Amino acid sequence: MASAGAADSVRAEAAGPPAEAAEEPEGGSRRWGAQHAGARELAELYSPGKRLQEWISVILCFSLICFNFYNLLFYLRLEHMPSVIVGIFAGVITADFLSGLFHWGADTWGSVELPIVGKAFIRPFREHHIDPTAITRHDFIETNGDNCFMTLVPLANMAYKFVSFSPEALYETCPWECYVFALIIFITLTNQIHKWSHTYFGLPRWVIFLQDWHIILPRKHHRIHHVSPHETYFCITTGWLNYPLEKIRFWRCLEIIIQAVTGEKPRADDMKWAQKIK
Ligand SMILES: [Zn+2]
Ligand SMILES: [Zn+2]
Repeated sequence: MASAGAADSVRAEAAGPPAEAAEEPEGGSRRWGAQHAGARELAELYSPGKRLQEWISVILCFSLICFNFYNLLFYLRLEHMPSVIVGIFAGVITADFLSGLFHWGADTWGSVELPIVGKAFIRPFREHHIDPTAITRHDFIETNGDNCFMTLVPLANMAYKFVSFSPEALYETCPWECYVFALIIFITLTNQIHKWSHTYFGLPRWVIFLQDWHIILPRKHHRIHHVSPHETYFCITTGWLNYPLEKIRFWRCLEIIIQAVTGEKPRADDMKWAQKIK
């Protein structure tokens, strides 16, 4: 992998259950970790073209974030404050739900063999279940490239409004744009937050503070998702929605409906990679 071993010197603890992580099947191939045959094969699929796409996405995304943030502050007024606070809170909740929906979709359906999306977007999810600590060895670009790519269109759309709408219209829509901006920021940061939830050494104090106060995904909380067969606690931005969604069996109900309609078995591809030992 291009970035494996680079940048981060932090050590990390596998998020899988320790008893399972230590299990060694016959033949010496491991069921979890970087030496797992499936994990090695998935890591090798990380291509230079994909790396370039991630670099471009990160640069464009953070440039647009700076431009939009500056403009939002410019049109913000004190009387906006109550609706802005509600907007930011709603934006964070929406981001948490979307992180769960996307993560559940990629974990549960599709396969690495699918054209284009398979290797580019489904591969990292398969790799993450059989080598949960790989994410802690990914540098900033590999960690955040995909999420930056996803938020490019809404960020460009917001920037377009700032350069083409009248000041009156921008003043009127400022609280709504704060909701959209909070949503975009938290979607962009989701995988960085996810990486921190797997990192057990060397985290900055302010990150640990945010985790301990459950403002971002706490480490213990995310461990629940990493118990095989990875069928619950998919939300990885703040994790606020994991408990209520589990209570109403939200993901299970969606899976039953999709399986009834398409005949596809949930997590079939994920199981296939987990069992790959040669
Ligand atoms: Zn997962
Ligand atoms: Zn994880």
